[in-house]
Amino acid sequence: MAQVITRCRLTGHYMFMGMDVDPKEFTRSPGPFTRKFCPFCACDHLWHKEDSKFLAPRPMLRSHIQQAS
Ligand SMILES: [Zn+2]
Repeated sequence: MAQVITRCRLTGHYMFMGMDVDPKEFTRSPGPFTRKFCPFCACDHLWHKEDSKFLAPRPMLRSHIQQAS
């Protein structure tokens, strides 16, 4: 499991989402995953998986990359 931080598309700042996810499961399908208050924009907006990064507590040495072809 890893902590999620997601970039605000309007300001470019990253914010802690306050959720633990499995990065492989999380990024399986792209798109918005939550709607949260953004302190940078001072409004609610959608947060997108493709703008997310993960702060893993342990190194992910065996990350498996799936190819679409
Ligand atoms: Zn924002």
